[in-house]
Amino acid sequence: MLHITLTQKKLANDPTDPLGRTFYGWDEHATTEQNWKNNRGYWVLGARAKRESYVLFSYNEQHEVVMAAEIAEIIDAPGKPGKRIIEGRPLPESHPVYQAYVGRPTPDSARVRNPVTYIDSTVGGWLCGCGCGTEIFSGEFVRGHEQTALHQRVAKIGTIPDFLRWFDALHEGATPAAGGSSGSTIMSRDGQLDLAVSSDGRVRLTFTPSAA
Ligand SMILES: [Zn+2]
Repeated sequence: MLHITLTQKKLANDPTDPLGRTFYGWDEHATTEQNWKNNRGYWVLGARAKRESYVLFSYNEQHEVVMAAEIAEIIDAPGKPGKRIIEGRPLPESHPVYQAYVGRPTPDSARVRNPVTYIDSTVGGWLCGCGCGTEIFSGEFVRGHEQTALHQRVAKIGTIPDFLRWFDALHEGATPAAGGSSGSTIMSRDGQLDLAVSSDGRVRLTFTPSAA
């Protein structure tokens, strides 16, 4: 991963600046988009930069990663021999790379004099907790997949009402309800209630209404 350390915002008035910037460096009061536009170039970037997918920006006053962007392309800076501009887009907060780095301390390997460094990204590499097989970089689930995981478990019991009855029955068994009446279910029609417990601990509660 490419890493660039930014200094505090400085005004720029270079008429030959290919990006036509009015400032460079980190401006805490500017939007991410503005900070990105003013800091994506121009830099001395070697061949390795072209193989990287993401760039992190740290703010040297805070020793903290303040922005992350996806690299689409590294281009030559017009009129600035040897300098490059990063084409891409800043990452949204929901992106796993953002979540893994932004707001966290600057990696130790990047705390050097040269503003441009590369960090070996060891982030991520574990799988989503729902079992879908997606690699994630932070947390336990791909966003929304905790719902999938939950509904898969509901489906093992039956419908959502089935699940709620099963859960409540289980919960009541574990902790006796005070007062005796909370958590009770009133059956308003005839039928058969079956409670099945299997050797692996699964409990299934089924209500079968009597045929009318
Ligand atoms: Zn998943």
